[in-house]
Formats: sequence, structure tokens, C-alpha cells
Amino acid sequence: MKQRLLFLGPPGAGKGTQAQLLASSKGLLHLSTGDLLRAEVKAATPLGQEAEAVMARGELVSDALVLAIVRHRLERHNGGWLLDGFPRNLPQAMALDGLLAELGQAIELVVLMELEDPVLLQRLLARGRADDNAEVIRHRLEVYREQTAPLIAHYQGLGLLQPVEANGTVEEISARLRALLD
Ligand code: ADP
Repeated sequence: MKQRLLFLGPPGAGKGTQAQLLASSKGLLHLSTGDLLRAEVKAATPLGQEAEAVMARGELVSDALVLAIVRHRLERHNGGWLLDGFPRNLPQAMALDGLLAELGQAIELVVLMELEDPVLLQRLLARGRADDNAEVIRHRLEVYREQTAPLIAHYQGLGLLQPVEANGTVEEISARLRALLD
């Protein structure tokens, strides 16, 4: 079983839900930059105050800030991990490669969760998080296409990419993932 995984895919594809299920069943660290940033916002730390407005607009928080968060967690962790929501652009992917080289680790698999825009939109509107209104969602999808989607070709080129159909129930999708990973 692979121990060092990335989850890639548009907002609303269900990365967080599936990453959490998989990480807890396999005993991996689930590292979601979105969750960690929201926790900082909630705790009103200086970092959270810096991130809050950017997140509310659906834009990306600075690379330096998210990288510091990821570095802090990975440096203190022994064992497998599952990164969810990071990297989100090529500079973050390069920085992650550097950090992993430093730690003597490597990504073993990149799961790409694929889902069509109308379904994504429907799911995000139903979720109703602070950054889940129609206008901000549209912008997040744009940011995904422009900045994050280029990572698909990057990881495909490295022979690490594994696409997964993300339509269906939570159980159906997690069964697909288990079949792929076991
Ligand atoms: P979703 O997958 O629905 O977009 P996330 O919880 O992953 O939700 O992210 C929510 C917001 O947090 C993003 O729109 C962005 O502002 C910020 N964020 C999360 N991860 C990153 C990252 N790696 N780099 C920059 N910003 C990030």
C-alpha cells in the first residue's frame, strides 16, 4: 500500500471527505491546507488574519504561508501522509519537491478526482461554507483551471497520476479509491 499520497481535483470534488476516510482507515496523516487555514482563521492568529480575506475572495493564500504550514507538519511526522489541497500551483509543487528531498521522501501516487462543473457547483452551493457563494465559487473554479490544473500534466509526466471518477455516493467513491490503492 502506498503511504505518501496527493489528492488533486477541483473544489467540490470531495477531496476532503475521501482524504479523511482514507487517511483514518490507513493510518496516514491527513494534511489539508484548507482545514489548517480555516483553523487559523477561527483562532484569529496573525496567520489567520492574513489568510481570511484572501480565502473569502476565493484566491490563493501566499505560497510562503502555506508552505510554512506544510513544512511544520511534515517535519514533525514519521510515517505516511495524504496531502489534500496542496500543492495548488507549480511553485508550490516545486517547493514541495524540495522539502521532500530534504526529508528523504517522495510522492508515491497522485489521485486526481474528476467531476464536471455543474455537479461541482451544485455540491458547493449545497455545502454553504463562508466561501461557497455563486460568485466566489466561480472564481475558485477559474483559479483551479488556471493555477492548479497544470499540475495534472506535471504529475502525469512523472508517471504518478491516477484519475478517479468522483461522481456517485461517498461509499461508491471510497470503494473506487480502496480498489485503486490496495
Ligand atoms: P476547496 O477544495 O473547496 O477549494 P479548500 O478547503 O481546499 O477548499 O481551500 C479553501 C481556500 O483555502 C482556498 O480557496 C484558498 O484560499 C485557501 N487554500 C487552501 N489551500 C491552499 C494552498 N495550498 N495554497 C493557497 N491557498 C490555499
